Amino acid sequence: MPVKGRLLNYVNGEWQPSSTAEYLDVTNPATGEIIAEVPLSTKTDVDEAVQSAAKAFPGWRRTPAVDRVQHLFKLKHLLDKHFEELAALITKDCGKTLAESRGELRRAIENVEVACGIPTMMQGYNSEDVSHGIDEFMVRQPLGVVAAVTPFNFPAMIPFWFMPYAIACGNTFLLKPSEKAPTTMQRVFEIMEQINLPPGVVGLVNGANDSVDAILDHDDVKAISFVGTTAVAKYIYSRAAENGKRMQCQGGAKNPVVVLPDAEPEATAEAVAASAFDCGGQRCLAASLAITVGAAHSPFAEAMADTARARRVGYGLLDGTEMGPVITADSKTRIEGLIQTGVDEGATALVDGRGTKIPEYPSGYFVKPTVLDGLDLNGEVVKSEIFGPVLGLLHVDRIDDAIDLINSGRYGNMACIFTRSGASARKFRYEVDAGNIGINLGVAAPMAFYPFSGWKQSFFGILHGQGRDAIEFYTEKKVVIERWD
Ligand code: NAD
Repeated sequence: MPVKGRLLNYVNGEWQPSSTAEYLDVTNPATGEIIAEVPLSTKTDVDEAVQSAAKAFPGWRRTPAVDRVQHLFKLKHLLDKHFEELAALITKDCGKTLAESRGELRRAIENVEVACGIPTMMQGYNSEDVSHGIDEFMVRQPLGVVAAVTPFNFPAMIPFWFMPYAIACGNTFLLKPSEKAPTTMQRVFEIMEQINLPPGVVGLVNGANDSVDAILDHDDVKAISFVGTTAVAKYIYSRAAENGKRMQCQGGAKNPVVVLPDAEPEATAEAVAASAFDCGGQRCLAASLAITVGAAHSPFAEAMADTARARRVGYGLLDGTEMGPVITADSKTRIEGLIQTGVDEGATALVDGRGTKIPEYPSGYFVKPTVLDGLDLNGEVVKSEIFGPVLGLLHVDRIDDAIDLINSGRYGNMACIFTRSGASARKFRYEVDAGNIGINLGVAAPMAFYPFSGWKQSFFGILHGQGRDAIEFYTEKKVVIERWD
């Protein structure tokens, strides 16, 4: 009998308990309340899920693409129907505000919508008479069993960067969600039962490192999508590559925004604050460095400090909350430690969010927005991903200095510029080494029909998630050359 509150795995179209004896508590980060226990699934659990996916594959790939996407049309309808319930669950899972959860879910659904176009997007191409009486064409075929390993910070959206495309292309799919925020996808899979996929087409295995290793080492898993920290992305990329798998691994970030003197300070500060502090700064597209150029420094720093101080921090389910907690107590300790390191390295804390207590939620993991001015260019904080609501300010004299500074960094997820000059904006987008560029906006999040790019230590692989890259990733090209004399 399943124990109440313990999450189950979804294998072969059925819910079943893991064979493990080890469970972790899942905590609502705003209240500290334990909302579930997540199993650390074993190699046997993973093997069973992969075998069921492998068994489902031949039938699923033979199902015409136009029929496969009918399941996705139903899924879109169901996600819309359960929209508010799922948004609230996301907030309880990872702490972001209800408005942020709604935004995340909307992005998840957009990926289902785009994947519904697979019958067209999966088409190959052909040439008649490449030689006398000889024709040549390319068709795309699915890979087999594919898997995704996802992080805590977008528990609904990130699995949807992969799952709809994978199954629409005719693969069968296994998800290992974050053990820190696993309840959202548990509910999504419950809802997905209503779309009547054949057993094994989608599977869910909860767990942590050992469950991931079992996926990485399984012979029947052909491709893996990963999103998480850079250290783990590198590990997963190399271990799976050794096992001959196709990989796409999205890592961490340290995203800069450049503010030129012609940008309007208040509006720019609002946009940068939304980027740096929304979702508690726990976004791979959160701005974490603001580089002011020339006369932009003082007006921007003042406006930034004002807007950071004014942010209302609390439980994301309550009206009026503008920022929720960070994910765990460890995360809070780490973030506060890095703020101290910044100060030790010579920065001034214009606003210091350490030691935050929200009286109604004394067990929550809250850190208020923090603005550190004058980071040491050679220090640790300027280079490290903090993944919390902390914005570091740096000042340079020229746009070229800002671009050099950005390009010397190890990450390349996103870079933004605020200016009224088209020439400066063009120079920036042309010269900056980052995969997602924002011009006069603080979060350059690609729509579902564009690749979620990312360069340098923010991405390992060639094909990104979403859009046409997803179809390339989830299919193998087969070239046929034929003569019928
Ligand atoms: P994480 O790396 O700790 O965990 C991600 C996933 O990897 C989880 O499912 C976890 O169980 C698994 N995992 C962790 N350590 C492992 C190990 N040693 N061996 C095998 N599996 C392991 O990341 P997180 O804290 O959940 O997420 C935050 C990170 O994700 C940040 O660095 C953020 O920048 C990054 N992120 C990147 C993007 C992007 O698009 N580039 C998007 C969202 C988040």
